[in-house]
Amino acid sequence: MKEYIISLDAGTTSIRAFLYDVAERKFVHRAQQEVASSFPHPGWVEQDASEIWFKAAYVLSDCLRAASGGKVMGIGVTNQRETVVCFDAATGEPVAPAIVWQCRRTSAFCASIPEEDAARIKEKCGLLPDAYFSASKIAWILQNVPAARKLKEEGRLRAGTVDSYLIYKLTEGKSFATDCTNASRTMLFNIRTLDWDDDLLAYFGVCRDMLPAVLPCDAVFGMAKLGKGEYPIAGVLGDQQAALFGQACVKEGDVKLTYGTGLFMLFSTGTQPVFSKSGLLTTVGSVYKGRTNYALEGSVFHAGSGVQWLRDELGLIENAAETERLALSVADTGGVFFVPAFTGLGAPYWNSEARGLISGISRGTRREHIVRAVLESIAYSARDLADCMEKDSGIPLTLVRCDGGACANNFLMQFQADVLGIPVDRPEERESTALGAALMCALALGLADEDIGSYRTSERVFAPSLDRTYFDGLYAQYLAAVRRALG
Ligand code: ADP
Repeated sequence: MKEYIISLDAGTTSIRAFLYDVAERKFVHRAQQEVASSFPHPGWVEQDASEIWFKAAYVLSDCLRAASGGKVMGIGVTNQRETVVCFDAATGEPVAPAIVWQCRRTSAFCASIPEEDAARIKEKCGLLPDAYFSASKIAWILQNVPAARKLKEEGRLRAGTVDSYLIYKLTEGKSFATDCTNASRTMLFNIRTLDWDDDLLAYFGVCRDMLPAVLPCDAVFGMAKLGKGEYPIAGVLGDQQAALFGQACVKEGDVKLTYGTGLFMLFSTGTQPVFSKSGLLTTVGSVYKGRTNYALEGSVFHAGSGVQWLRDELGLIENAAETERLALSVADTGGVFFVPAFTGLGAPYWNSEARGLISGISRGTRREHIVRAVLESIAYSARDLADCMEKDSGIPLTLVRCDGGACANNFLMQFQADVLGIPVDRPEERESTALGAALMCALALGLADEDIGSYRTSERVFAPSLDRTYFDGLYAQYLAAVRRALG
């Protein structure tokens, strides 16, 4: 009988489930449901946690049907990180809309955290005080939702990230648990002791008994009840960490770069956390087989969204894929540089006042030059992060593994290799996030080798140009454009 694992990927824009054939080592079926976000005030982003749960149950059932005749051995879970769900432990009902990671409603509070407190917080949890992380979102709900406060007094309030809420619902309330990677994004978790930190809990007014139990990624988190069946939930990681694992980046110096709406670079630093002096975050990469792997993380808010802007606002292109041909139709950008600071700049600049710009326009500038400049800006943003990672860790980068929608662009991947001066390795299976959760689940259930490198195959490796001077020169011109965007 065929053995399968279902990988549930609860993302920000959609929830997907993938059926992984254990013996064939590949996905054989997938199901997807879009998830709505609402924007009740400028800068606010909310979702309905009940919708997340219904749609998760729907895509899981779809995969179970596709597996009929075989056996589903377990379910791995990966999810949008930081997003907070508060609910009533007695009923499982959410008490407020989920506050999504993108939501900026607590930014004034986070900006008011004094520097010495920020330093102490970073030392414990590896993060910079920012509205992005879960802690200030939970604090906001406690301050602003009377029903949540009342449930807290009665000991019935539960608060957790999306994984923990789905585990609670899937196990019919028997298990309320999260994994160390999701916990490491809350700003309440001590990344050295791998436990909730009492000092951080007190700082944000959160009680330990509201929060999920924290388990290693390869634990069994509970038994999911679906239809007449019961399936172990094993293998839980936040989405970026799942991609890191799915790309088999577990050794010190291994790096993955995800090219989606934004750009996410994770650099594995081995069993020791490295604290950044350049605006990167320190995070738990994975905890399995009794070992903790740490990572440095850099996030750039806008990457593929620049390509969407070319299509939707400027009307310069009809679809994203077309940018490859257009960029290759010119020898260079003719001196044009684009800085994608639509909503400020993330790592390593952390400047919310910066705005985008196009520089170096001449009478001969054509749409091909602008399209190419937008793609090149994605590669330069990755170079910003790579330089910080090398500086912070003291480990030279030798290769990056790529995934995400825009890694399909051959021009971009070649230019990336040229700008970084190291090879860019694209995998056969580009759904690294779903693969990471499937592999962690297989490992937890004894269905995979610990050497997960053998589960990843390269589709193409882009070798860098030998002309370092030329590409370093281009990058220096990009940095000059960034300085103007900051000014
Ligand atoms: P997310 O998970 O953030 O929704 P995806 O990984 O699905 O993102 O990638 C989608 C993004 O990649 C979009 O912003 C899109 O514009 C961009 N994209 C997709 N295909 C290409 C391509 N061939 N060239 C350049 N950009 C692309």
